[in-house]
Amino acid sequence: MKKYLIAGNWKMNLLQNDAQIFGNNLNNELLNRNLSDSEVLVCAPFTNLFTLKNIQNETLWALGAQNMHFADSGAYTGEVSPLMLKDAGCEYVILGHSERRQYFGEDNELLTKKINSALHHSLKPIFCIGETIEERNNNITFDILHHQLEVLKNVEPHQISNITIAYEPVWAIGTGLTANSKQIAEVHSWINNYLQINFSTSLKILYGGSMNAGNSAEILAIDNVSGGLIGGASLKLDQFLQIVDNAIQLT
Ligand code: PEP
Repeated sequence: MKKYLIAGNWKMNLLQNDAQIFGNNLNNELLNRNLSDSEVLVCAPFTNLFTLKNIQNETLWALGAQNMHFADSGAYTGEVSPLMLKDAGCEYVILGHSERRQYFGEDNELLTKKINSALHHSLKPIFCIGETIEERNNNITFDILHHQLEVLKNVEPHQISNITIAYEPVWAIGTGLTANSKQIAEVHSWINNYLQINFSTSLKILYGGSMNAGNSAEILAIDNVSGGLIGGASLKLDQFLQIVDNAIQLT
């Protein structure tokens, strides 16, 4: 039986008041559902973390951040450390999101430091990988994914199981385009094989890229898809809950 992780990535959205309303309503709504072994996660902007921590029903949903610095503390103006994320109630942290790779130049070297630091502090990384449309059209999707996954070879073997992978084709993020079921199945199966060959393990592999209330049932039912990383549709509670409900129905 699948155990899903339904993760919202709010990106740079929602002020404190909206976050508070969302968090309180999420508590109430999830109380009426039987999540069994599936998990719900909200990855909020830094400024909302303490607010959410203070209202969160931890038995129903987890809190995560969208990025972090690798150092514990120090002269890194504008950055937030893993210790600060723990302090603010985070259990998870998204690392290597394509927007971080694209706009902030995050590469394998930096992401290796971030992932190892998160694991050292018992934060669970959601490690994002994915190809651009040019890369897909040039038939180098698997080369790109292979290169991005090389980061995991620098993680201590006993920590690998604490990592979740999110496959997010860059061309499907925030565009309204989703990969089709065949494309998703092909890539998720490839990632699963890669993990088996290199680490003799399976990890949760989320799909991300314009997942919404309407397409989530079909996507979540695909083999080797163990949840979703959801941007736009995670900002509207009714849509986010519909995705959660679709996951519940499939378990
Ligand atoms: C994301 O931000 O990880 C994402 C998948 O966004 P969207 O659902 O809006 O495409």
